Amino acid sequence: MSNIIKIEDVENAPNKRLQVDFEDFINEINTIAPIKATLEVSSLGEFVKITGNVKGRVILECDLCLNEFEYNLDLDIEELFAKNTLLDEYGQETEIKEGQFITDLAGKDNIDIYDLLYQSVILDFPNKKVCGIKCKGDDFLSEENFAQNQVDPRLAVFKTIQVKKEDNADKK
Ligand SMILES: [Zn+2]
Repeated sequence: MSNIIKIEDVENAPNKRLQVDFEDFINEINTIAPIKATLEVSSLGEFVKITGNVKGRVILECDLCLNEFEYNLDLDIEELFAKNTLLDEYGQETEIKEGQFITDLAGKDNIDIYDLLYQSVILDFPNKKVCGIKCKGDDFLSEENFAQNQVDPRLAVFKTIQVKKEDNADKK
């Protein structure tokens, strides 16, 4: 099945609902096995709603030790698309409540499931990617904290020069 869902096909489907099963690798997302998604696309008048679940095992790189680790993907999707442009002052994506966006199709007659899944999977990744509680990067992290508390002597000199300049400017 194509990853491009035609709005027309959703309109013509029984109860205006279309079941979409996706099982494929997604470019730029490192996985061992294909990502699986079970989605339902439904037409709600001016809107198209996509709900469903995405599963997979992704390989991420740890922010601390740079080792690769597996991340279990299991997320629910709920996305709304506006068939026609909503209001001009809104952008391409409109947030109707926290975390709930409406994507403006602006008259486009299809939805790319591949794109939608890519975006959803990327957003599901943790902000701080850490391989585990026993990550060897702990040493690296504490070194980094240590460095931040140290003032570089060259920077300290620069700071002094700046202050002097400001003082002179005040006098003039
Ligand atoms: Zn790590």
